[in-house]
Amino acid sequence: MKIIKIQDSNQDFVVGNIFCVGRNYSEHAKEMHTDIPDQPMIFLKPTSAIISNGENIIRPNISNLLHHEVELVVAIGLSGKNIPCLDAYNHVLGYGVGLDMTLRDIQNDAKKQGSPWTLAKGFVTSAPLSEIIPSVKISNPHNLIISCKVNGIQRQKASTGDMIFKIDKLIEYISTLFTLEAGDLIFTGTPVGVGETKPGDTIEAELIGYTKIFHQIFAA
Ligand code: MG
Repeated sequence: MKIIKIQDSNQDFVVGNIFCVGRNYSEHAKEMHTDIPDQPMIFLKPTSAIISNGENIIRPNISNLLHHEVELVVAIGLSGKNIPCLDAYNHVLGYGVGLDMTLRDIQNDAKKQGSPWTLAKGFVTSAPLSEIIPSVKISNPHNLIISCKVNGIQRQKASTGDMIFKIDKLIEYISTLFTLEAGDLIFTGTPVGVGETKPGDTIEAELIGYTKIFHQIFAA
């Protein structure tokens, strides 16, 4: 069981399902040489992938190419099925910043073979996540800046307004296919600028003005 702190609250957030969105920023789709999808592209990470601020990121020995992907993360506070866009934000408890750490070499092999991305995306420590900022403090989740620095150097910095599929649409889409449950997370996709992190590097992901996380990279 993974428990995340909610800012300025005594309540804990117990993480359930972790839904992740691929290719949700057009400049990132271009850098990956992939098309922009007609519908959100969804994959899952296991709950055990979550780590909190300060915990180490461990690159498993099946990979030599660990990439960072900074993402806005939506925390679901109210369960639902077939949630319409208009009702979507009533199901959001808050927001955080996360890293969708990716074994890019393993993912590229999986793409070639038509295999699932689970090994590339779901390894232990692949989902560093900040505390959750209650949604009452964030009037517009598409007016936020997410940032990623490696060894203090800016790698990614983008507005969440640039998402192709906005949060209400993601909630509607995911909840038509799955039941969204209180405790679930949605990693909403990464903007342009993904790149390699090597053992010994430090990485800092920030939801500017709200919260940030800091991690060191190690090899198994
Ligand atoms: Mg991602």
